[in-house]
Amino acid sequence: MSISLSNLANTIGDSPTLKINAKARALKAAGEPVIHLGGGEPTYPAPQAAVDAIIQKAQSRKIKYTPSAGTPELKAAVLDYTHLHYGRRYEPANVIISAGAKQALYNFLLSVVNPGDEVIFPAPYWVSYPEMVRMAGGAPVIVRGEGKQLGVTADQILKAVTPKTKAILINSPCNPSGQIYSEDFIKTIVEFAEQKQIFLAMDDIYHQLVFDGKKTPNPCAYAKDGNNLVIINGVSKLYGLTGLRIGWAVCANKALIAAMGRMQAQSTSCNCDLSETAAAAALKGDQSCVQDLCRILQENRDVLLREAAQIPQVRVEKPAGTFYSFMDFSHYNADSNALAQYLLEKALVAVVPGVSFGAEGYLRISYCADQASIIEGMRRIRWALDKNAPKELKIGDKLLTRD
Ligand code: PMP
Ligand code: GLU
Repeated sequence: MSISLSNLANTIGDSPTLKINAKARALKAAGEPVIHLGGGEPTYPAPQAAVDAIIQKAQSRKIKYTPSAGTPELKAAVLDYTHLHYGRRYEPANVIISAGAKQALYNFLLSVVNPGDEVIFPAPYWVSYPEMVRMAGGAPVIVRGEGKQLGVTADQILKAVTPKTKAILINSPCNPSGQIYSEDFIKTIVEFAEQKQIFLAMDDIYHQLVFDGKKTPNPCAYAKDGNNLVIINGVSKLYGLTGLRIGWAVCANKALIAAMGRMQAQSTSCNCDLSETAAAAALKGDQSCVQDLCRILQENRDVLLREAAQIPQVRVEKPAGTFYSFMDFSHYNADSNALAQYLLEKALVAVVPGVSFGAEGYLRISYCADQASIIEGMRRIRWALDKNAPKELKIGDKLLTRD
């Protein structure tokens, strides 16, 4: 008799974004001049306040378990953040701190989904949504735009609702498209979900990373008691603090937050003491780093779009936020996995295939790297796709060759 894994383990796939990070890292470590345009983390250095807080905490030599749902200090900082950005003053029992927005989302799904319940979200979606819903025993229901249209309307979401719908997941601005949902869209979904008593999770991890003076609509503006509305956020993208692994969920519904707390207490006990201290310091510190980050990302976006415009037949909608662009490369290869593999092998450029986000024919190209990398990466992609270009490209002392 052979030893076997669970059915769940045998069906849950790798995270394609983390996989491409690992691949790019391994190639770099092997000395290959790889350009990483696949990543989802700003290269921006950590805010000084966070660094000082970690040092101070470490020097106290008290690095212990913390309260399971988060330290009072970090909860207070998150509540102030929520008041400032969403106009709602909540209490500590309304917030749970988790190991990244990712764990907050997972705890949420574990706390609301019964076997067979449906969770609706639009495509293109963040890679982990379908797998997380399945891990919680639910059924992902993906809503797609008409034809080649990437965005979806509120109406299309409402039409996907069935008696089995337990939750709707919205990410604005959206990873991978960088698009912000309109005020009208958010209003319709918030009001509908509240009226029907369907949970609505707003994955707001990029809500401050917006460009051209745009703003993401505030869902709390349209909620009455907001008992079904969960706001998910974290410090990963806002401050470039991906390695802290600190995120949170805020909801008027204390029973939901308490349930999420039980999931967490029984699985990871609590968050990392050093990380919670650092995240609180970042939230309470000088916020000019967020504006600086937005300015840099907007400039990077413009550089990327300028470079992309030089590749014929590539279509892209100007991202309004995040640090991702979602480009239609179907003219070159309708199989985005094969194209991403080709670009990594031949041009040493890492990008993420669109199929991982539920949109075949696209590539997600990040612009959180430095501008020189963006320009070089796009130059190599252009070369790799141009049938009339020379078959060889010299990169330092390395010679790239393509088909
Ligand atoms: N949601 C979205 C849309 C993301 O892109 C990410 C990126 N990691 C997360 C949630 C999770 O972020 P983290 O766990 O690093 O806070
Ligand atoms: N969210 C980032 C991305 O989409 C980081 C990787 C991950 O957590 O999946 O690339």
